[in-house]
Amino acid sequence: MTTAPDVIRAKRDGHELTDQQIRWFINGYTAGEVAPEQAAALLMAIVWRGLNAKELATWTDAMIATGRRADLSPLAPTADKHSTGGVGDKISLVLCPLVAACGVRVPQLSGRGLGHTGGTLDKLEAIPGWRAVLSAEEYMAQLRDVGAVICAASDDLAPADKLLYALRDVTATVESIPLIASSIMSKKIAEGTQNLVLDVKVGEGAFMADIDRARELATTMVALGETHGVRTRALLTDMDTPLGRTAGNALEVREALDVLHGGGPRDVVSLTVELARHMLEMAGRGSVDPAAVLASGAALTTWRQMIAAQGGDPDAALPHAAVVEVVHARGAGVVVGVHSRPLGEAAWLLGAGRARPGDGVDAAAGVVWRVDEGDVVVAGQPLVELHTSDPTRLELARERAERAIVIGPPGTNAGVPVRQIVRETIDGQ
Ligand code: URA
Repeated sequence: MTTAPDVIRAKRDGHELTDQQIRWFINGYTAGEVAPEQAAALLMAIVWRGLNAKELATWTDAMIATGRRADLSPLAPTADKHSTGGVGDKISLVLCPLVAACGVRVPQLSGRGLGHTGGTLDKLEAIPGWRAVLSAEEYMAQLRDVGAVICAASDDLAPADKLLYALRDVTATVESIPLIASSIMSKKIAEGTQNLVLDVKVGEGAFMADIDRARELATTMVALGETHGVRTRALLTDMDTPLGRTAGNALEVREALDVLHGGGPRDVVSLTVELARHMLEMAGRGSVDPAAVLASGAALTTWRQMIAAQGGDPDAALPHAAVVEVVHARGAGVVVGVHSRPLGEAAWLLGAGRARPGDGVDAAAGVVWRVDEGDVVVAGQPLVELHTSDPTRLELARERAERAIVIGPPGTNAGVPVRQIVRETIDGQ
C-alpha cells in the first residue's frame, strides 16, 4: 500500500518516484485525501532533489488528468503563447488578435497577476464591460467565429495546479524548475493548443534572473510540450529593461491600442511581430507576413470583435487616475539604465497589482517612463509619471521610480548598449 510518508521519504532520500507513487500523490492531494502538510513536505523535497525527465512527464500528466484536456482539432490550426511574466508585458493584447487575423486561431487561457508583473486578465478588465469568465459554449463559439479568445481558465483545467500553486506560494516552494515547468505546461497542454511559443523572460524584472536557469526552464518546458504532442518552441527574451513605456492595466491597454493602430513603442512592435512569425510558421502559415497584417488594420478589427464578444466596449474611454505625479531629472546627463524591477514595483505599489490572490486592482494605476536608455536629459525633465487613485501610495512608488532611471554624466552615450530583446531560441524539433 502506498502512503504519503513513504513517497515523501523516497524523494527526500533522493530516489526516483514510480509512476504509481506520483499519480497516487497528485490524485490524493487533489481529492483532499493527502494532507496539505504532506504535500508541502513532498514539494520541498522536490525543490531540493528535483524530478528527472521521466518523473516530470508523469507528474505533469497526472496534473492534467485531474481535469479535462480540450480537443481543439476541429478548429485547427491553433497556436498560443505563454509569457513567464515581465514588466510592461502587454504583448498578448496585440499578438492574439494579430495571429488570429493571419488565419491561426488563438485559444489563450490566462491568469491574473500576483506581485510586480501584471496579469493579462487584469489588463483587459480595465475595458468597461469586458468579462474574463466565459461558458464553454461562449468560448468555443468565439474561438470559431472571431479566432481569438483571452479568458480565465475554467475550474476543470488542471485543478491540481491551482491547489499545488497555492501551497507553493505559502511554503517557499515556487522556485523549482520542475515545479514551475509542470505548472505552466499542465495548463497549456490541457488547454488544447496544437502549437505553443513560450516567451521565457530573463533578467532582473523576471522570474529567472540569469540566462542559465532561464534556458533550463525553457528546455524543460519545450520537452514537456513535445512529449505531450504540443509543438513547442521557446524564446529567451530580455527583461532587464521593461517593455514599451507603461506598466499598469489601463495604461498598457492604451499602449497596445497604439500598436494596433500602427504606432506604439518599437520594442513592443518588434517582439510581437517576431512571436507572431514563430506561431504562424509552426502552425503552417509561415508565408503570411504579420507585420503587413498589423499595418493593414486587420488585427485592430479582430481586437474589436474579440473585446465586444466578451461584453467589452472597444470605444469606451479607459479609466484615468485621479492623481498623476511626475518624477523629474535632478540633473543633466544620459539615461544609462531603465530598470524593470523597480518600475514594476512602483506600478504595484501604486495599486496596479495585488499582494494576495483575490485582492482587487486599481485599473487606472501604474507608471509611464518617458525616457529610453541612451536619451540625453536636462535637469528638471520629466522621467516617470506615477498614476494612482490613492495619493498615500505615492511616496514609496516615487522612491522606486527614482531608483529605476539611472542617469550618467553628460557624454556617456557611447556606453549604452543596443538592446537585443530575443537572446536565444529553443526549438522542440
Ligand atoms: N506561473 C505558473 O503558472 N506556475 C508557476 O509555477 C510559476 C509561474
